[in-house]
Amino acid sequence: MSHAMTGMWMRPEKDTFLGAENPFESMMARFDEAAHHLNLEPGLRKVLRHPEKQLIVAVPIARDNGEVEVFTGYRVLYNTARGPAKGGIRFDMQVTLDEVKALAAWMTWKCAVVNLPFGGSKGGVVCDPATMSIGELERLTRRYTSGIIDMLGPDSDVPAPDVNTNERMMAWIMDTYSMHKRHTVTAVVTGKPVSMGGSLGRREATGRGCMIVTREALKQLQRPIEGTRVAVQGFGNVGSISALLMARHGMKIIALSDKDGGIYNKNGFDIPEVMQHVKEHKVLRTYKGADVITNAELLELDTDVLVPAALENVITDDNAAKIKARIICEGANGPTSADADAILQDAGILVVPDILANAGGVTVSYFEWVQDRGGFFWDEETVNSRLEKIMVSSYQECAAMASRNNLSMRIAAYMVAIDRVAAVHRLRGMYA
Ligand code: NAD
Repeated sequence: MSHAMTGMWMRPEKDTFLGAENPFESMMARFDEAAHHLNLEPGLRKVLRHPEKQLIVAVPIARDNGEVEVFTGYRVLYNTARGPAKGGIRFDMQVTLDEVKALAAWMTWKCAVVNLPFGGSKGGVVCDPATMSIGELERLTRRYTSGIIDMLGPDSDVPAPDVNTNERMMAWIMDTYSMHKRHTVTAVVTGKPVSMGGSLGRREATGRGCMIVTREALKQLQRPIEGTRVAVQGFGNVGSISALLMARHGMKIIALSDKDGGIYNKNGFDIPEVMQHVKEHKVLRTYKGADVITNAELLELDTDVLVPAALENVITDDNAAKIKARIICEGANGPTSADADAILQDAGILVVPDILANAGGVTVSYFEWVQDRGGFFWDEETVNSRLEKIMVSSYQECAAMASRNNLSMRIAAYMVAIDRVAAVHRLRGMYA
């Protein structure tokens, strides 16, 4: 019976009405192009277009006022051919099954592009954490964990933080899982506090990876690192650490932004000072000694490098032609729409795609899982030097694939990833 017939208002099914902006379709557009260039056999193409497992759970919790609320949670295992699934959990009102599917597929390609022995997954709960108390968030996290517990495990599916989830929640997931198993299982989740099995260097890993690939891109274009102008959208974990480490390597950070707007200074910012300002005042735009700009203006600035490190779909066919940066390093997941890809490529802009550029985070999550399973922990230099090695070699593999086939880095990165996943499927064969 349709909703109109029942006369009842229901939250629209975003996964059916999103149309052109459907994130799963946007991911699949890139997959299809890469599969075409790889000449991937039709059977494998079908297999890799389908998530292995999708779970929808009701998550009932008692609110602090005693009322019962039921949230909807998702967990999608996209592909586990190469190893346990790996992927974050987000708490957000915009979570849909299609978004979780797209993010789970991205995780599959991301783990493969940096050659980690993981598949890909993602999870989410439709909720507004800003309106929830810490106690409500704990009950939500624990009940969601118990709802998806049959999927979880160090050998099957390993979550991590994502939008609006953090190491506090990872600790609750670890505890809930461990209570069910009757013994402590640290390796069931990554992004945990260092004191309970987290890895040194994990917090900085995504930004560090962005800095490394940007440096490699500059080398590839034979441009100097010293004095390179960088604009960074988003000043959270990824944006602020990218800016900090790029500045430490001699780049000049000329623009920064957060959700309330941006700041610009052609002479470059002292990033530790800006970080201190944000710590004290919460927002960037009150920082003195800078011009205030909008997020839209930041994207179109005259700069050498642009780092979108906030949201999905900020570079679209509306503004792609106005982008002046020579290099885009995608710190965020999915900041560029599929329509914008061709415009950027025609303009000769080198886009280091999300599945490569922000893979530093999952790489150090992998190190965390390895350390937990081995019960032997590494110092920060070991973590950082192993991360550096993986990011540099992955960049070079994607760059070589791009130049061999005269394709964008994005399609090349998908090709490297899909080729690796497909190779394992061929070797394993079809279980029947
Ligand atoms: P975060 O919550 O720490 O920071 C997000 C930043 O974006 C904040 O500064 C916020 O103010 C800003 N922002 C929010 N809405 C905005 C808007 N409308 N315009 C401009 N800025 C806005 O998040 P994060 O962990 O830094 O993640 C950022 C992106 O990187 C996300 O796409 C995430 O999926 C991706 N990512 C993160 C990691 C990681 O390890 N944290 C790893 C891989 C990918």
